[in-house]
Amino acid sequence: MSPPTSSTAAVIGGGPAGLFAAQTLAAAGVKVTVYERMPSPGRKFLLAGHGGLNITHSEDRAPFLGRYGPSADRIAPMLERFSPEDLRAWCESLGQPTFVGSSGRVFPQAFRATPLFRAWLAHLADAGVTIERRSAWSGWDADGRVLITDSSGRTRAVKSDITVFALGGASWPHLGADGSWVEPFRERGVEVTELRAANVGLRVAWSDVFAQRFAGAPLKNVSITVRGSGAPPRRGDAMLTRAGIEGGPIYASGATIRAALDAASAGDDACVLDIDLRPDVDAAELEKRLSRRRPKDSATTWLRRSVGLDPAGIGLLREAGTLPTEPAAMTALIKAVPVAVVDTMPIDRAISTAGGIAWSEVDEHLMVRRMPGTFVAGEMLDWEAPTGGYLLQASFSMGAWAADGALAWLGRDV
Ligand SMILES: Cc1cc2nc3c(=O)[nH]c(=O)nc-3n(C[C@H](O)[C@H](O)[C@H](O)COP(=O)(O)OP(=O)(O)OC[C@H]3O[C@@H](n4cnc5c(N)ncnc54)[C@H](O)[C@@H]3O)c2cc1C
Repeated sequence: MSPPTSSTAAVIGGGPAGLFAAQTLAAAGVKVTVYERMPSPGRKFLLAGHGGLNITHSEDRAPFLGRYGPSADRIAPMLERFSPEDLRAWCESLGQPTFVGSSGRVFPQAFRATPLFRAWLAHLADAGVTIERRSAWSGWDADGRVLITDSSGRTRAVKSDITVFALGGASWPHLGADGSWVEPFRERGVEVTELRAANVGLRVAWSDVFAQRFAGAPLKNVSITVRGSGAPPRRGDAMLTRAGIEGGPIYASGATIRAALDAASAGDDACVLDIDLRPDVDAAELEKRLSRRRPKDSATTWLRRSVGLDPAGIGLLREAGTLPTEPAAMTALIKAVPVAVVDTMPIDRAISTAGGIAWSEVDEHLMVRRMPGTFVAGEMLDWEAPTGGYLLQASFSMGAWAADGALAWLGRDV
């Protein structure tokens, strides 16, 4: 069923989720206005472009979906509606073809977000989408109309047939998404799970000597297990920082680490990562190699020659305490160097946000159950995923899905 041609939509938030909802609504003939609080939309998307803009991933659908953990079932139909292949085709349609990197991650060939975003804004303008900049949503009036405050502080109520909220999470708040929507939604009875840092580095109380020497050094191809969690180990490259540690395997363990930190602050055991510095070599083989120590070898030479550890790996072993001299004890340490986590870095340094509007608050079309005609999309919802293109993919797919839901709602009203 198509919506009446005179239908209007207010899309609040000009990130990937909001703009893709706007595009989908406009393509169906709806008159769309996007309200964006910042002087320009898409600031986080553009920042993501500084790292190459990993826009989606090329892996098969089952592992792809697995990245969304407990939200996978909800997100699955959205990924069918606007799939990774659709996203790549869409980039190409905007003159920005993509390629698959060696890790399976997908990037625009330009390796930047700016050309794609510029082409997208032009496409939206052609489609009749109006973007009102410096226009912040600031709540609802007594009739349920959204309130928009402009940069001069003037607030007006906006009437539209449907509203799509895509206000993002709370990481990098100076880019626009700061989580200030949480309280107004809670006040309207909508359950919002606490926003927490996801895809974020960890704080570790390194010794000064270690932090000074190894901040910025990678730990290549390690396997990281959150002790006592039962969660599977995560493989990849981690990065030592002055304050702690970050990188793919840390981000992929994010939810497990948060749970372990919560348990620790409730009095349980501390949150400890066990880092396997040689995950490709089994313990028996490691011990065999370590037993070939020459009498004159220093510990560093022994570890470098026999098992190929680099200075950062050896430094990490030393950081764990006195170095063992027995091959068996050294093997055990290399296979599980303990690193006690103090905390995550703050949310404003996180790549994304966990938590958000509870899935139980939205119907299968992403319409807020207690606000008929109001839809939500993107990081505002309670889901998370590791880095790898999964965040942007889901944001786009949810934008399309929420817009479809809104169109169905408008059509139903005819
Ligand atoms: C440094 C960095 C690198 C990243 N790299 C990648 C990557 O390579 N791949 C990947 O998949 N993901 C990446 N991400 C994550 C990705 O950018 C986000 O998941 C995605 O942008 C979320 O889209 P969204 O539309 O839900 O929210 P956002 O992009 O945050 O957009 C929300 C918009 O709403 C606006 N807004 C907020 N409040 C109001 C209000 N009251 N009124 C009006 N407007 C408002 C904001 O200004 C903003 O423009 C990265 C994130 C960061 C911080």
